[in-house]
Amino acid sequence: MLAGIVFVGLGLIFGVTRAVRWARSLRGRRFVARTRPSAGKSAMSPLLVHDRAAALAAVRMLRCACGGRLGGEPESTEAMRYGGGEVMVSVPACPACATRRGLYWVAPR
Ligand SMILES: [Zn+2]
Repeated sequence: MLAGIVFVGLGLIFGVTRAVRWARSLRGRRFVARTRPSAGKSAMSPLLVHDRAAALAAVRMLRCACGGRLGGEPESTEAMRYGGGEVMVSVPACPACATRRGLYWVAPR
């Protein structure tokens, strides 16, 4: 009887710790996915394109957080120095909410 209670208790503790560990690993994985910068969002991970036209095409595909399209010509396209190289940044604006977002890209010369 006592042995049975201890056994069930241990099983319960084991099950709970496993569930907690599983939930933690799930949260950790989701956190990594959220923080991993996708190509083009930062100078650290620029989008690799063939040429300027391809970069501007990619800019037209961008969507704003409000759901609007960032399409159209970017307000500015500038070169910036990053890590010993040059990264271009095009900044389109959302026509709906006027949010600006930079698309970082690199094209071979
Ligand atoms: Zn917007």
